[in-house]
Amino acid sequence: MDVESASLAREAIIAHYAHSARVLPWRIAPGGGAIPDPYRVWLSEVMLQQTTVAAVIPYFERFTARWPTLAALVAADTADVLSAWAGLGYYSRARNLIACARLVVAEHGGAFPSDETTLRRLPGVGDYTAAAIAAIGFGQCAIPIDANVTRVVARLFAITTPLPEAKGAVRDAAAQLWPVCGRGDFAQALMDMGAGVCSSRAPRCADCPASAWCMAYRQGIADALPVKPAKKLKPERHGRALWIAAERGGEPAVWLVRRPPRGLLGGMRALPSVMGPSNEWSDTPPPPGWCEMGAIRHIFTHFALTLVVERSHDAALAVGEGEWWPISRLDEAGLPSLYRRAADLAIMEQVR
Ligand code: SF4
Repeated sequence: MDVESASLAREAIIAHYAHSARVLPWRIAPGGGAIPDPYRVWLSEVMLQQTTVAAVIPYFERFTARWPTLAALVAADTADVLSAWAGLGYYSRARNLIACARLVVAEHGGAFPSDETTLRRLPGVGDYTAAAIAAIGFGQCAIPIDANVTRVVARLFAITTPLPEAKGAVRDAAAQLWPVCGRGDFAQALMDMGAGVCSSRAPRCADCPASAWCMAYRQGIADALPVKPAKKLKPERHGRALWIAAERGGEPAVWLVRRPPRGLLGGMRALPSVMGPSNEWSDTPPPPGWCEMGAIRHIFTHFALTLVVERSHDAALAVGEGEWWPISRLDEAGLPSLYRRAADLAIMEQVR
């Protein structure tokens, strides 16, 4: 795309965004030159890593109602933050969130740094998130390139090299398209295009503000771009989760533990469980007194897990550090989805 076409496409995208921007709780209305609170930009960008906008909205609203400022979040109990994150997945983000908030207070006087390089040194802030905070929260010359922006740019410039090799070409093309500094909302305009008219499955080119300059549209290859790498099969793991239920204080309760602070679901409340690469031991029958209730399948980023759920009513099996949690208040335990699903299975099977 030549310089003039890039300039015309940019202006058309900005004009379209001015009247069609998605209303999202971490944004401010386009135009007017105002810049959103960097704390809200940071929080939303961390939550949006690997997670859809629809899933993030209620979590963002609950978080900002409870911890409206960075100072409030820093003063929060770690266990409360992890519980509030439960269900959003990728729990290392929650631990990094707390570490990042504390570091910003300790080393930056409680104000987020505005430049990409310093932002990148914060826990849980990678290249994309640093660029997004710098561009959206500070109006800096930074180009955040997420999956939506990659798709729109690859199509506008008809970049046919497969990902991830195409990343450099996408970055160069985005730089050609990007407006002068201080236009953080251009990133949001492209994100909205990628989530709307230029969606991955069925681009609606007839409704697109940039179709007159879009090279993929002209060549009839929009659906095929960006070219994605072949999907790899995820390794399989197997595990067992234990539902140890007993009467406590006159009501049914279940034994919950906390996972080790580091690693998978680190620091989160959980059912006692073991997971491993082999299914040999999970094929053997449960020990006497244990009753197998079924299995759930859960897909993590790097592996797929089959978790067998077993039940016992022997309170003596509740050993080590843990707590008896009333089953009627399980919603408040902050269980991550894997264990919440295991708990639901145990409860459902128990009432059958
Ligand atoms: Fe995407 Fe079609 Fe617009 Fe090109 S014309 S940017 S392919 S929606």
